[in-house]
This record gives sequence, structure tokens and C-alpha cells, in this order.
Amino acid sequence: MIILPGDDGLRFEHMTGGVRVERRLLGRTGLEVSALGFGGAPLGSEFGPIDEEEGRRAVRHALERGITYFDVAPYYGRTRAETLLGEALRGIRDRVVLATKVGRYGKSNFDFRPERVLTSLEESLVRLRTDVIDVIFVHDIEFGELGTILSETIPALERARDQGKVRAIGVSGLPLPVLRRAIEGASLDVVLSYCHYHLADTTLQGGLASRAAEHGVGVVNASPLAMGLLTPEGPPEWHPAPPALKAACRRAAEACAREGADLAALALRFAVDTTIVATTLVGMPTVAHVDRNLESIARPLDHSLLERVRAVLEPVDGTTWPSGRPENSL
Ligand code: NAD
Repeated sequence: MIILPGDDGLRFEHMTGGVRVERRLLGRTGLEVSALGFGGAPLGSEFGPIDEEEGRRAVRHALERGITYFDVAPYYGRTRAETLLGEALRGIRDRVVLATKVGRYGKSNFDFRPERVLTSLEESLVRLRTDVIDVIFVHDIEFGELGTILSETIPALERARDQGKVRAIGVSGLPLPVLRRAIEGASLDVVLSYCHYHLADTTLQGGLASRAAEHGVGVVNASPLAMGLLTPEGPPEWHPAPPALKAACRRAAEACAREGADLAALALRFAVDTTIVATTLVGMPTVAHVDRNLESIARPLDHSLLERVRAVLEPVDGTTWPSGRPENSL
């Protein structure tokens, strides 16, 4: 096997008969993950209705093409995404690193109590047709009381780990301050940050990534397309970004289109280059999305296009939006 460096960070392993996406270690978990991961939110039709059979095909195709990390949650499609992923992984579950979540069950339905998260875990094991979850995340912790999550929710998951039902424990959320405090306040394995490392926001590389590295915590970067903002099609109607950010992303898409380029391809290529994260998760509801995204990360980064697009986005760089309890964003 020969390992060929890409233009910058991402590498592909060129093997007899194909190309495999670079794999990286996920913190100190001992788990090896593909540098591009499969985001399961679209499987729950969170970004609009999907063809479910095509969604299952996309999962299997992604694995065939070297994507080995799959992320889902009971919240996505209110359990539908987990069910689809479980069906798609029948017979091949052992070849993937599987992550799901506990604690969020609806737009405003959160329950981080130990008994509920343990029941949730059992339900996920059934839907995902497995007896162990590789990485279990407490989902969107900014909506809970951090002290309780650290002193009750995480210890409950540690008991599940002792019983062999999960391999690694993490937290996910939007505000970087709450993720940093969680890293400092508990013995976590992984942290999942979203919408903080993409063309219009690279704040993940501020304090959080180095704090995670100091603690041996693996970092997962989700939403490299900023949940659809950085695509030619634009974001779903529910997208929480402020209007100025949405408008700037639209202008960036138009600037790319004028040059015959694809904003989504550039955005993904940019995001996967960073080595501060173990994997970058992108939502891929179809086989075509998988192929398109693998093609865009295999190409060299167009630095001159990147510079022009970053200039369009510069006025909104680092713009985020409120999420959860205000004290968790401080
Ligand atoms: P994303 O940035 O990956 O964008 C997804 C959207 O982009 C979907 O509509 C998808 O169809 C579209 N898309 C994908 N490839 C495209 C392409 N080449 N061209 C045009 N459009 C394309 O956002 P995401 O799905 O929210 O993030 C990825 C994954 O990360 C999620 O599916 C989920 O698994 C995880 N995630 C977790 C949390 C959390 O735990 N709080 C938050 C956000 C995301």
C-alpha cells in the first residue's frame, strides 16, 4: 500500500483496485476513523424528504468507498435515521465505527437524566441492530444544566461503558465555551463541534482544539457545509443563521457559479484539510452525494478560488447564533 500526500492535509491510501480515504485515530479511544465521516441527519429527512432506499444505498456505498465513521442520533427523523442506518449496516456493522447520541428527542425535547439516557441507549442498540455503540454522545449539551450532565449523565454512560455497551463517551453542541468546560470537567473521550470549522467560521481552531488535544480528547468536526449554507442549493428553511450570514453565503455560491465552480466542493475540500480534527462529518443522503464529496476532497485545493470566496465571506467570518441556555455560551 502506498500513501500519497494530498495537496495539503488529507491523504488517500492508493491500494490495488482502489483508493481509501485517510484514517486517523480518534483521540485516545483506540478507534481509527476515516477523515471524512458520514453524517446521518439527512437520513432522518432533516434537510428535506429523501428516498429511503437510496439513503441505505448511500450508506453501503460510502463504506465501499472507504468512509468508515457513521454518525446518527435518535433525534434525526425522531428515530427514523437510526432505523435506516441499522438496516443499511446489516451484515457490515463490524466494519464501521458507529456513533449515536442520547439526551435530545425533539426540537425542544431534552432529557439528560441517567435513567432516560440509559433507556435511550438500549433503544438505539435495537434500532441500530448492534450490541455495542462505538461512540455515544450526549446530544446538544448547551440545552441542559452542565453540572448535572457532568455529575449524572456522563457517569451513567460510564456505567454502560463498564458493561460493554459503549466504547467511548463524548458530548456534542454548538457553543464552544460549553464544550471546553465539559472537556475540563469530565473524563471525556470525544467532543463533537458543529458549524465552527468551515469557510465562514474557523473558531474551532481557537481554544477548543488545543484544549481537547491537551486532554487527549478526539475532535469531530460536523457540518463543513454549515448545514447547507455553503451549497449552491442553500440552507433548509429552519436554518438558524442570521440573515447577514445567509446572504453572504448566497453571494459566495453565486461567485463560485460565475466561475463554473461549486461552493460545496470548495467548502468540503477546505474543511477536510485541517488536522486538528479526527474526522469531518458531512450529510450525504444519496450515492451521488457520496461520490461527489469524495471527488471534491481528492482534488487539489484551489487556493486562488478559496481566497476570493473567503473575501466574500470575510464580513461575516465567525458569525454564529444562540443555542441553548445563555449561560452555556459564556
Ligand atoms: P452539512 O454541513 O454536512 O450539510 C448537509 C446538507 O448538505 C444536506 O442537505 C446535504 O444533502 C447537503 N450536501 C452534502 N453534500 C453536498 C454536495 N456535495 N453538494 C450540495 N449539497 C450537499 O450539515 P449536517 O448534515 O448538519 O452535518 C453533518 C453531520 O454531522 C450530521 O448529519 C450529523 O450526523 C452531524 N451533526 C451533529 C450535530 C450535533 O451533534 N449537535 C450537529 C450538526 C451535525
